[in-house]
Amino acid sequence: MIFYSTNNNSLSATFSEAVIKGIADDGGLYMPSYIPELSKNFFENIDKLSFNEIAFEVAKNIIEDEISHNELLNIIEESITFNAPVIRISKVLSILELFHGPTLAFKDFGARFMAKTLSHLIRNNNKNITILVATSGDTGSAVANGFYKVDGINVVLLYPGNKVSEIQELQLTTLGENITALKVDGTFDDCQRLVKEAFLDNEVTNKKKISSANSINIARLIPQTFYYFKSFADKSKESSKIVFSVPSGNLGNLTAGLMAKEMGLPIFKFIAAFNANDVFLNYLNTGVFEPRPSVKTLSNAMDVGNPSNIARIIHLFKRNYHKMSENIYGAAFSDLQTLSAIKEVYEKYDYIIDPHGAVGYLAIQKYMRETNDDDISGIILETAHPSKFSDSIEGVIGKKIEVPKRLLTLINKEKKSIPISKNYDEFKQFLLES
Ligand SMILES: *Cc1c(COP(=O)(O)O)cnc(C)c1O
Repeated sequence: MIFYSTNNNSLSATFSEAVIKGIADDGGLYMPSYIPELSKNFFENIDKLSFNEIAFEVAKNIIEDEISHNELLNIIEESITFNAPVIRISKVLSILELFHGPTLAFKDFGARFMAKTLSHLIRNNNKNITILVATSGDTGSAVANGFYKVDGINVVLLYPGNKVSEIQELQLTTLGENITALKVDGTFDDCQRLVKEAFLDNEVTNKKKISSANSINIARLIPQTFYYFKSFADKSKESSKIVFSVPSGNLGNLTAGLMAKEMGLPIFKFIAAFNANDVFLNYLNTGVFEPRPSVKTLSNAMDVGNPSNIARIIHLFKRNYHKMSENIYGAAFSDLQTLSAIKEVYEKYDYIIDPHGAVGYLAIQKYMRETNDDDISGIILETAHPSKFSDSIEGVIGKKIEVPKRLLTLINKEKKSIPISKNYDEFKQFLLES
């Protein structure tokens, strides 16, 4: 498969080049030159396949022959070591739990797959590679976890100093070894900007082999398509129309879902659910894209003011804005609404949902009220485990949330990070000297 930049159809790359570079030389994002359609036979028998078998079929069609089938199977088996169960909470609503990975967020799928893929691709390369990751909280820990102690790879995490939770900060700063955390005096958008600047800076790229692991890396996106297929497999005996509600920030998850649909998955509608950071919703409503600084909310992994993957979405719809707004319904909600949704889901369905999933719940409720369509099978992507946000949840449900063991082990570890300003020169200095 050939990949090319969303900014320029003639700037192409092999899969390996696209993964190692992360972002194209012109600042565009890599996309496959075409989206392969999966066979009828695959969809007819999908309910008989395991999660890893589904993942293999999907990945092999996108990557084609640049990674041998055996090696691809290995990568999948080593990275997707946990399940994505679909929990039905009512006649029309189910929850796709994406938090069963080691860092309790859906980003484990993308980050782990990417880590194994990258270390496979650079195995004959004797130059060390440095992965730069801007994180609003969850990406960083998932990536760090995926790359932890992987030979030949150093990871530099940039996180917004005062905008991540205590648990998130512990996850980012306690690993050590080949993982370095930079505590940036700024927002997530500042972190993302610093990373983008470094990629465009020849002085840095000449000295260091750098790559990105944000949702802009194509190897992060591919595995995020897997669970759309998996949840379809779980529902394939039902005839109702499948609607996915996707709690959205940088729009990677939504982009992956749209790709799955292009590959033939019969999805009726996507719901893009936002908190107060609703730049993409405005775009859906008006056709005008106006990035703004992000604001802090309870669903903090969605606090993104300039979502990168919008370039891929525009590209997928071939700039047909009308078709885009037909396929994607958008809605945005406040923190107050989020809290009452957490309470409602707990009281009505006896399910503890996290603030990100709660935004997804609100959006699908709004969609159902407006369309009056009850012949749907609504699937809410639950992107993080509620224990990561116990501070905001426990108050409204009046109950303590059990913290999974894999998080508890962090509490007594020492946090280590390097404070830096949001000024690019300081970051550059760090990169050139480290
Ligand atoms: C990253 C993240 C999101 C947003 O996903 P995007 O792919 O950036 O749109 C939602 N919820 C959680 C818990 C996340 O970590």
